[in-house]
Amino acid sequence: MIDLTKIVECYSCGLFVKKGDNLNVSQICPRCGNKLETKQNFSIDSLFYAISSLMLFFVLSLYPLISLTLNEQQLDANILKTVYILFEQDFYVVSFLVLFTIILAPLFNSIIIILIFVQLKFKVKIFKKSLLYDSYHFFKEWGFMEVFIISLIVTYIKLVGMVSNTKFDFGFFVILAYVFCFIMSNIKFDTSAILDD
Ligand SMILES: [Zn+2]
Repeated sequence: MIDLTKIVECYSCGLFVKKGDNLNVSQICPRCGNKLETKQNFSIDSLFYAISSLMLFFVLSLYPLISLTLNEQQLDANILKTVYILFEQDFYVVSFLVLFTIILAPLFNSIIIILIFVQLKFKVKIFKKSLLYDSYHFFKEWGFMEVFIISLIVTYIKLVGMVSNTKFDFGFFVILAYVFCFIMSNIKFDTSAILDD
């Protein structure tokens, strides 16, 4: 069988090209001259970043993102409370979308990366490779953490105009670290590792 990890597809014209031996040198597609994405084979860093993401999410869910004091009352909201508040105010669709794109999709993305490493390392087959491959891409497409951070900043700007003691709380800085680890785990991850046989 052909080793799929040694084949790379040209995103510009669709030609399948054999990877060169030296992965540090960038390759050019022989048909259209487009630069090929010859990433290093999957790196263990991806696993560490995925585990860090999960741990940071746990910390994140405990601390408020933004807090303010109004009439001597301390108001704050963490990431889970945000979804709950939306649900409580009858924004069912919005709360489900936030729950899925901000919480579930990124979490499943990290869990799948970890699962793939476990399956490859211990040579066990818990899930079919095609299922892992498809769900990895599905959850990756549906994660919108960046959008959430931007909406937090917009919320902050709006609130600080009304209540001057509004501040980013500990959770906001955790979410930045979380998104960094999350993005890094995806950058360092090479999907062709799944199809390696
Ligand atoms: Zn090409």
